[in-house]
Amino acid sequence: MGLVVQKYGGSSVADAEGIKRVAKRIVEAKKNGNQVVVVVSAMGDTTDELIDLAEQVSPMPAGREFDMLLTAGERISMALLAMAIKNLGHEAQSFTGSQAGVITDSVHNKARIIDVTPGRIRTALDEGNIAIVAGFQGVSQDKKDITTLGRGGSDTTAVALAAALDAEVCEIYTDVDGVFTADPRVVKKARKIDWISFEDMLELASSGSKVLLHRCVEYARRYNIPIHVRSSFSGLQGTWVSSEPIQQGQGDQKVEQAIISGVAHDTSEAKITVVGVPDKPGEAAVIFRAIANAEINIDMVVQNVSAVTTGLTDISFTLPKAEGRKAIDALEKAKTAIGFESLRYDDQIGKISLVGAGMKTNPGVTASFFEALSDAGVNIELISTSEIRISVVTRADDVNEAVRAVHTAFGLDSDSDEAVVYGGTGR
Ligand code: ADP
Ligand code: ASP
Ligand code: MG
Repeated sequence: MGLVVQKYGGSSVADAEGIKRVAKRIVEAKKNGNQVVVVVSAMGDTTDELIDLAEQVSPMPAGREFDMLLTAGERISMALLAMAIKNLGHEAQSFTGSQAGVITDSVHNKARIIDVTPGRIRTALDEGNIAIVAGFQGVSQDKKDITTLGRGGSDTTAVALAAALDAEVCEIYTDVDGVFTADPRVVKKARKIDWISFEDMLELASSGSKVLLHRCVEYARRYNIPIHVRSSFSGLQGTWVSSEPIQQGQGDQKVEQAIISGVAHDTSEAKITVVGVPDKPGEAAVIFRAIANAEINIDMVVQNVSAVTTGLTDISFTLPKAEGRKAIDALEKAKTAIGFESLRYDDQIGKISLVGAGMKTNPGVTASFFEALSDAGVNIELISTSEIRISVVTRADDVNEAVRAVHTAFGLDSDSDEAVVYGGTGR
């Protein structure tokens, strides 16, 4: 008997009907002879609504209480899902992250999983139950406080459980038919990808394709867990994310690796420019130590050539908008140590990234990317590259058009309109 882990995102369980529909699907997997572990997200936009509510009560809520609040969303859906399954005549038990043995560090709001001890899940399965686990949450190893894994963290819960339980596959059910060459909400002609490597998926995820979370893909690569991303609304085969170029299922077909996997975009970041920094050794180190000490992850960094007359330079970097306030405070505190003139904060930016392992061996990809942006009249503010990715920062207003232009320029448009969005609000 195989063991499968299935994860259902918020849009798949947005209302009572959704929960009943998903329950039927889960029961089917069980009837096919599998042991089934289900990871579930909060219903619809519940997490966003809880965040809005907290902000109305306090502008900077304490991490511990904030996490306690947010985990309530997943508790609601896990219990309702277990009830719906029982109503179909099958046994199910729900578990919080803590009960399921998801042990994390104690960084509230973006905790990392450090161990998974799924003893209770194993027992529940052995007794013939379907185990339902609340996604996105765990318990800290030292303080035993409830933690959350960061937005979209249920994907990581699913893969971590799949690894700990030695599952055959981790299925991620969402509101689109798989991973597409671009966000189907922006590019109607996006194409479904049959297979994608962990490496390309990691770059897409870290560049803003929220269909899978970066940490979840990282985890899956480390433990070599194949992920199948598919829709909970259709019966179609989705996208396989794995190390081997194989589309599993009917006959395990070998597939070819595409030169370009896709175009990702992200409007969740902001840009901070530290203006008038003395151009001498150690300056960047002090700036980024201050940011790191505030536990803020940064993305792109650009330093300008210093002006000959003043010997001063500007350093710009991007970071999640949600960390903007904290970063400005940290830099202001370190102002004397750094010796800059002023800070500029800009949250009207967007990032567009082109991803594909084929870039390494195909000259001209960068040139074609910039030409496509130029033809679309899009101005580039920052550029960064890796071996298999090119990213640019532009005005937020230009992002959608830029994504479509790049998608067309690289021949990724499909002839049919296969990019269906079944649910969700895109929030
Ligand atoms: P869930 O609630 O199931 O976790 P998410 O909203 O987190 O769903 O992720 C699914 C969404 O990801 C899709 O509705 C789509 O708008 C977005 N998305 C962004 N980039 C891509 C992509 N390349 N392929 C598929 N979906 C994408
Ligand atoms: N409910 C959480 C969120 O909205 C976790 C998840 O859906 O993965 O971010
Ligand atoms: Mg998600």
